[in-house]
Amino acid sequence: MKTDLKCLTMQQLQNVLQEMSEKPFRAKQIYSWMHQKLVTSFEEMTNLSNSLRKHLGERFTCTSLEKLVMLSSKDGSTQKYLFRLADGNVIETVFMRYRHGNSVCISSQVGCRMGCTFCASAIGGKIRDLTVGELLEQIYAVTRDTGEHVSHVVVMGTGEPLDNYENLLQFIEMLTDENGLHISQRNVTVSTCGLLEPLRRLAQRKLAITLALSLHAPNDELRRQLMPSARTCSIAQLLAVCDEYFRQTGRRVSYEYSLIKGVNDRPEHAHQLVELLRGKNCHVNLIPINPIKENDYHRSDVTNVLSFQKILETGKINVTIRREMGSDIDAACGQLRRRYMDNPEKS
Ligand code: SAH
Repeated sequence: MKTDLKCLTMQQLQNVLQEMSEKPFRAKQIYSWMHQKLVTSFEEMTNLSNSLRKHLGERFTCTSLEKLVMLSSKDGSTQKYLFRLADGNVIETVFMRYRHGNSVCISSQVGCRMGCTFCASAIGGKIRDLTVGELLEQIYAVTRDTGEHVSHVVVMGTGEPLDNYENLLQFIEMLTDENGLHISQRNVTVSTCGLLEPLRRLAQRKLAITLALSLHAPNDELRRQLMPSARTCSIAQLLAVCDEYFRQTGRRVSYEYSLIKGVNDRPEHAHQLVELLRGKNCHVNLIPINPIKENDYHRSDVTNVLSFQKILETGKINVTIRREMGSDIDAACGQLRRRYMDNPEKS
């Protein structure tokens, strides 16, 4: 298989070009074409000789994503993309305009093997990990399509990022590299269902990225019902690693809690959550669940959401309710890809 040059760090690219007896500055030029000017082919690299461009094309590939569908929400805040990968698989990516800047939510895998019972991405399991080039290209393709600057990246789309750990780390390195888009580490968020070992390794890396832990339940019994991956470790173990993450990085951890009517949204759940998080420098993000047709979970009533929030506030926990964006275009959590997989012609 041909090597995808878009997956290589500057150093790796320099090594490849050195083996081809090219001058070191060529690596910088090619890197800049791919990661700053965001081109998708070697032909566009017009400061390289014709013969080098041809040679690169024969020996290497340069990932690009094919836009299959783009939907805009009525309020203009959100655009949702379905992209086709070179092997025909389909992924979704979301572009969100916020007051603080533009954000892209990317997928980390094709499908997901974590099996969370409320999540559309779990249906059908994991097909494969995304490559570094495919992780980056989601942001590049959206930037090209909108013509707008992207300042924030959230790895919160389909897939479990820590189940694709090596690629995730190299992606973050390249995304924040001054020779690329140079996005600040502080503007990158990684959301995980909580895989203990990779989480420990991530804490040791001392990156300035934000960690979002998908908690969704205040006790192990309920969490294990909702999230099969929770059977491999306890909430106490996860919180201990998150505390370590905070110690190592100084970055406040965000806990995601999707509210499901009658399942995890009762006052006693909120009180248990306060006990778990008491005194921690953290933040809780309450997400009224997006119902999917494959299960019969329902969204909590507004009054329950507000009283859940109130209990956390009274317990001195920082808490917000996630603003909903793009639900009119199925922008929430894996639903567009599902619809496409069910019925490709209609999407
Ligand atoms: N695998 C990672 C990232 C992808 S999911 C993780 O588990 O964090 C991103 C977030 O959306 C997670 O918090 C996930 O639990 C949540 N989520 C998944 N399906 C949802 C749904 N139907 N409604 C609301 N939130 C959902």
